[in-house]
Amino acid sequence: MQLEPEHGLQKKSCDAGFTMKQASKEELAKRASWIITRLKKEFPEARTALIFSDPLELLVSTILSAQCTDARVNMVTPALFAKYRNAKDFASAGKKELEGEIKSTGFYRMKAKHIIDACTAIVDRFNGKVPRTLDELISLPGVGRKTANCVLGGAYGIQSGIVVDTHVIRLSNRLGLTKNESPERIEKDLIELIPKKEWYRFSNLLILHGRKTCKARTPLCEKCTLSADCPSAEL
Ligand code: SF4
Repeated sequence: MQLEPEHGLQKKSCDAGFTMKQASKEELAKRASWIITRLKKEFPEARTALIFSDPLELLVSTILSAQCTDARVNMVTPALFAKYRNAKDFASAGKKELEGEIKSTGFYRMKAKHIIDACTAIVDRFNGKVPRTLDELISLPGVGRKTANCVLGGAYGIQSGIVVDTHVIRLSNRLGLTKNESPERIEKDLIELIPKKEWYRFSNLLILHGRKTCKARTPLCEKCTLSADCPSAEL
């Protein structure tokens, strides 16, 4: 059964050409809240699919996941983490050797450099521990805001920002929560709509929904739990 949205935003107005101007920030925040409620029911255990047991493993996995599937990264990391057990091990890794070990994740030369350089900085400046603040994390070579938010949310439970990947870019636009395309501006828009305690979960909910239903080329709108209030629904 398709439930009606509870926040009063009418789909008709969406079909008629929803724009950010037509919906107030308050209405968009209600829309976002409704989306979170619906997706939580579908994905009660929403979290990253990367397998890790400590913050360093999540940092390395997240670096490896650029332009690569989480499933592929999870195939590579068990042997990697058995061999390199801490930041010092990665910092002193042979670059060629590490490149060979992560080759199947793609962009392996750049990723090996980022891992070695980031772990060297962690050893030199943070006593071998992955830092717990956004500013410190993005000061590491090869670590951007998206990676930092992933690590802080996934490993430390710290809501530092909203992870904006390709799924979040696509879905937040389709769902009418932003009109922007750049990750920085989308994150800014979403932060104004999403309660801070939900920032990390929200990204994971959209990523899971994007993989399963709201696919890039062929969104499965007829099966979508959000179709009652999606401005892009094709029904
Ligand atoms: S209704 Fe369609 S476009 Fe909208 S979120 Fe669902 S799958 Fe995506």
